[in-house]
Amino acid sequence: MQGKDILKQLSPYKQGKQTKDIQIDYQLDYIVKLASNENPYGYSKQVSEALKAENFDFHIYPDGYTSDLRTALTRKLNIDETEIIFGSGSEEIIQLLCRSFIVPGSNVVMATPTFPQYKHYSLIEGAEIKEIPTDEEGYHQLDKMLATIDDHTAIVWLCTPNNPTGAAFSKDAFTSFLDQCPKEVLVVLDEAYYEYLQPDKELNALQLRNTYSNVIVLRTFSKAYGLAGLRIGYGIANASIIETLDKVRGPFNTNAVAQKAASYALEDQKFIQHTNQENYKNLIEFQRFLEKLGWGYYDSEANFLLVKTPTSGVKVYEYLIRFGFIVRPGELLGIPKTIRVTIGKEKDMKKLQKVLEQFDHELG
Ligand SMILES: *Cc1c(COP(=O)(O)O)cnc(C)c1O
Repeated sequence: MQGKDILKQLSPYKQGKQTKDIQIDYQLDYIVKLASNENPYGYSKQVSEALKAENFDFHIYPDGYTSDLRTALTRKLNIDETEIIFGSGSEEIIQLLCRSFIVPGSNVVMATPTFPQYKHYSLIEGAEIKEIPTDEEGYHQLDKMLATIDDHTAIVWLCTPNNPTGAAFSKDAFTSFLDQCPKEVLVVLDEAYYEYLQPDKELNALQLRNTYSNVIVLRTFSKAYGLAGLRIGYGIANASIIETLDKVRGPFNTNAVAQKAASYALEDQKFIQHTNQENYKNLIEFQRFLEKLGWGYYDSEANFLLVKTPTSGVKVYEYLIRFGFIVRPGELLGIPKTIRVTIGKEKDMKKLQKVLEQFDHELG
């Protein structure tokens, strides 16, 4: 029993080593995980306090309409309740999009490197993949992506800031793309790192959903909100796209704890501001450090930096892990001689800089 033909070519998601295993393998008591772009400040204390006081009816199915969170979020974003869908992480919405919009003979257009799940789920639904390399600074080449669209294109996957490069395209570039993109092509704008953008990089993508009825914006509580372990994300689009996706969505796809936690997290915007400010400060400082070291890096508007390493990223990864720092080697992301580093707390980043300096010195 092997399943569909396409599955012979695909592998299950291989996660990085768990912190506990690294602690044991390297006999370390202090580990700094900078590999999955999680929030180093955790999540809002208001969430943990409110959840302690909650009485969950775990024997009852969750609210399949995610009503309370839907009300809170649609008010905050000034959108209609019919214009939003929730998923078990925005990653589930990526799956729903593939299942809903890809038919045999379809193709999808995306950047490379980008978030790998677009390709994975598109392949499973039988799509042909058209990948357009990002430019030297890690930006999507939107003009080349446009030129690749044809009559069989079902979805264009856009990711801004792009994971793993970190580069975010401008509002002008995006609206110009939408003006030229055929209306029959679904444009997915994945803004998983939206809360990390500096104000001048904001796309105001939600305002575009009426002018461009073929756009869906994906956001998540996993990154800046720090709720990755609970799995909840959302998509915002014109009501007809949402209605289509809702037919494919499982009836109870987000769980009761995640719904509550996300509602409380939303109320603490101070936490998000703090996360954004600390991240930006530490990002800039890390960039200054790399410049002094003579290492390059890609532009970043997110909570991670793709660093150009003088030798294989795997080598740097292996060196760092001995000191308790877990980063993502670029070889696993399709960009050799890089590492993707989540921006951590100031004191951890200082220690990381010491270890990187030492590594560079030993390289000679
Ligand atoms: C982390 C990430 C996601 C997935 O987030 P979940 O909501 O946890 O599923 C989606 N897109 C990008 C680009 C990401 O980096």
